[in-house]
Amino acid sequence: MSDLQPALIPSATPATWLGVMGGGQLGRMFVHAAQAMGYKVAVLEPVDESPAAHAADRHLVARYDDAGALQELAVQCAAVTTEFENVPAASLDLLAQHASVSPSAACVSVAQDRMVEKRFFIDCAARSGVLPAPHQLIAADSDIDTVSDGLLPGILKTVRLGYDGKGQARVTTIAELRTAFAGMNGVPCVLEKMLPLAYEVSVLAARGHDGKSVVYPIAENVHRDGILFTTTVPGPNVSADCAMRAHDAALAIIDHLGYVGVLCIEFFILDDGSLVVNEMAPRPHNSGHYTIDACITSQFAQQVRAMAGLTLGDVRQHSPAVMLNLLGDLWFDVATGERIEPAWDRVLALPGASLHLYGKDDPRPSRKMGHVTFVAATLDHAQASLQAACAILRIAR
Ligand code: ATP
Ligand code: MG
Repeated sequence: MSDLQPALIPSATPATWLGVMGGGQLGRMFVHAAQAMGYKVAVLEPVDESPAAHAADRHLVARYDDAGALQELAVQCAAVTTEFENVPAASLDLLAQHASVSPSAACVSVAQDRMVEKRFFIDCAARSGVLPAPHQLIAADSDIDTVSDGLLPGILKTVRLGYDGKGQARVTTIAELRTAFAGMNGVPCVLEKMLPLAYEVSVLAARGHDGKSVVYPIAENVHRDGILFTTTVPGPNVSADCAMRAHDAALAIIDHLGYVGVLCIEFFILDDGSLVVNEMAPRPHNSGHYTIDACITSQFAQQVRAMAGLTLGDVRQHSPAVMLNLLGDLWFDVATGERIEPAWDRVLALPGASLHLYGKDDPRPSRKMGHVTFVAATLDHAQASLQAACAILRIAR
């Protein structure tokens, strides 16, 4: 399909359909946004019960590489997107024979492989002004013999399929590195130097078929146990200069990639104030959930606009916001381990609260079950609501 397509205007008869690969919570929130704009949405997801399929107008129950189902999805839908980055690139290519696919298989492939991604970041460093962390490919035991001391202490990450800190090991010595690599079942890994992080930010950007890009306000993220804990916008640590550098880097990266859709780029800000690019997600992102309640155009509505060839929406934020992830741990009593229902009535009674639960009926520790966003006239007020929510939900602050 050509890059410049006529806009896919929502229409009831015949319905204009959009497709999404994947049935998780990102897909669910995409479905909600697309339906609110008048589209019908089909989800391709192998699991019977899933957050996105519950909300969708149609659920194709099939593997992500099922050629027949992919053809059906692409024929029904004028445009298709993905809600997770590990969708097989070949499936996106197949879909692209019948429908407009954004982001493209080529763009998604870059984000699927940490080494390819880092090479890409280095390629556009002259324009973006940012580099990834010092790193080395560890694909075989012999690669460990050539690791320089400068990369230790470091983090060993699997090159593919990592998320929420999974597939990662922190190592301080060569001996630990050998043990950690042996524990990765022989898959290629990358060793990254452990950097002194002052704080972490992410930048959500979107680019349309017409090549025009927008960048959302910079979000400050706090992780716990490798999982995103809170996102605060504006970030209390983010200086105007840092925000500008991250904004400009994100623009350069999304343009250089020739990307269409919503892209999230994670950056580290080091103790000396320098900016390092960590990784990117070729889709809406957990750290962008605040846009649903605090921005004129949510990241999911933006994805709809981008893939449908519509003018991108206004990214302005109307209220300071704090987003708290709700993990499955909250459904269990800390002392007894018994299953409980968190006091959502009390959380919802807090000023500026918007609760988003993903319809997952099987809470497990560390599983993302939902999030709550607090908006207020000032960041202090939003943070006060967050503190109160943490007290109600017994989350240590
Ligand atoms: P997610 O899917 O949640 O974004 P991930 O599993 O893809 O996570 P990363 O984003 O690479 O993994 O790393 C998770 C977290 O670990 C980072 O947000 C950061 O807090 C920490 N981290 C990762 N790499 C480094 C590094 N080189 N130096 C210091 N801290 C790091
Ligand atoms: Mg990350």
